[in-house]
Amino acid sequence: MQLHYIANASVPSLSGKTIAVIDPSDGQAFDEIQRGNAEDVDHAVQAARLCYDNVWRKLSPAERSRLMMRLSAKVLEHADELAAIEQRDCGKPTKQAKADALALGRYFEFYAGAADKLHGETIPYPNDFSVLTWREPHGVTGHIVPWNYPMQIFGRCVGAALAAGNVCVVKPSEDACLSLIRVAQLAADVGFPAGAINIVTGFGHEVGDALARHPDVDHISFTGSPRIGTLIEQAAAERHCPCTLELGGKSPQIVFADADLDAAIPTIINAIIQNSGQTCSAGSRLLVERSIYETLLARLGSAFEALRVGPASLDLDLGPLIRQTQQQRVWDFLSDAHNDGISIVAQGQIIDEAPEGGYYQAPTLLRDVPVDHRLAQEEIFGPVLSAMAFDSEEEAIKMANATQFGLVAGVWTRDGGRQFRVAKRLRSGQVFINNYGAGGGVELPFGGTKASGHGREKGFEALYGFTTLKTVAIRH
Ligand code: NAD
Repeated sequence: MQLHYIANASVPSLSGKTIAVIDPSDGQAFDEIQRGNAEDVDHAVQAARLCYDNVWRKLSPAERSRLMMRLSAKVLEHADELAAIEQRDCGKPTKQAKADALALGRYFEFYAGAADKLHGETIPYPNDFSVLTWREPHGVTGHIVPWNYPMQIFGRCVGAALAAGNVCVVKPSEDACLSLIRVAQLAADVGFPAGAINIVTGFGHEVGDALARHPDVDHISFTGSPRIGTLIEQAAAERHCPCTLELGGKSPQIVFADADLDAAIPTIINAIIQNSGQTCSAGSRLLVERSIYETLLARLGSAFEALRVGPASLDLDLGPLIRQTQQQRVWDFLSDAHNDGISIVAQGQIIDEAPEGGYYQAPTLLRDVPVDHRLAQEEIFGPVLSAMAFDSEEEAIKMANATQFGLVAGVWTRDGGRQFRVAKRLRSGQVFINNYGAGGGVELPFGGTKASGHGREKGFEALYGFTTLKTVAIRH
């Protein structure tokens, strides 16, 4: 049985209720988490506030940095344990789970290094004045985290928030919170003061909502679906609380006829199968110049057929989806494709040994998907790639921009002029040219436009979002 982690102590929920934890590889319950409520959130926020006022605010940036360095090292020491926890909780193949644990260590390393390098400016002004700006922490920051990359998302938002001088109350997803409870315990082990990192588990409409509305939370960082993002923004607006929203995507990969297909093909595949397509930046639309459309689909089709899906522990190309409702969602999209005459080019295989109750879905490549079809417009959050052909650069740009989202875009071309022309016109937070994701480096600011959200996480840029700027003008 898992408990909340508040003020460096494991505590049960005041609700007295729990939620079962399901292994997506076999659909069986194997643990329980607390079903938190608004009182638990209040307890955590009060603990965070006490920590902020009495301890954290008084630490020098270098002292915060050292604590974060120690947590980074501790996470790396426990990387296999953390990976195993998240693997079972989320159904991640071993390679992915391990990469996520290492990324968490790297986020804390990066932000530890940044904690004492955040500074304001002096502004030239008439001589009888000295004008300067200070970057001050918000205070208590609330973090609402999804289930697809708990450790990575915790690393990027909690790491930046702590480095900027805030203390954190984290609400992980009810579908995947075990790794974060363990990380909070590790933080206490390396000396984080009680109340600096608090974890309250439970449902979004109970714990998440209470956190977003709590009057003593000074900033909300939300990563999740556009639908819930709207609710968070409304709750934040009611009390004028700043928030950053990292939401969904329907990201295009645009392949021009002069592209290096040997480099593009494995990257295009990885961008839709990674974490079984349950990735905000999944490259789920494939836009291909008509002269190479058939060639590229034939090559991708053979590669798709070789992909294998099975239990997370077997470390195949794909693990299961997170839960049955997510599996049903993907099935509904594929059934719409069938009803609307959209053809399947190829599918991977679910291995025979996959347990009956697991939430498996074979990766699927579809062709000639109309630009306005829901398959090309809505986030499926599964391993389904929708291909479509274009005839000109202008048409490719229009098609790429023709969704409500604007998170990531990939462009494959050897033409240097086109690389810049297209990148400038894509309405997208990130554009990757002849790659996709640039290795996911911590250093690279990340975020969306349009329905993909606002604000930036990762990189140095994220630190600004976790501070508020104060202008101080002194007349001599
Ligand atoms: P979700 O919106 O259902 O849930 C996200 C979090 O919000 C969970 O912790 C959930 O419990 C909580 N929540 C749910 N209802 C709430 C409410 N009424 N008030 C407050 N909190 C509430 O999203 P999900 O299914 O967990 O994650 C998938 C989504 O996250 C996808 O849309 C994906 O694209 C997005 N995502 C975005 C990024 C990014 O960086 N842009 C990264 C990962 C995931």
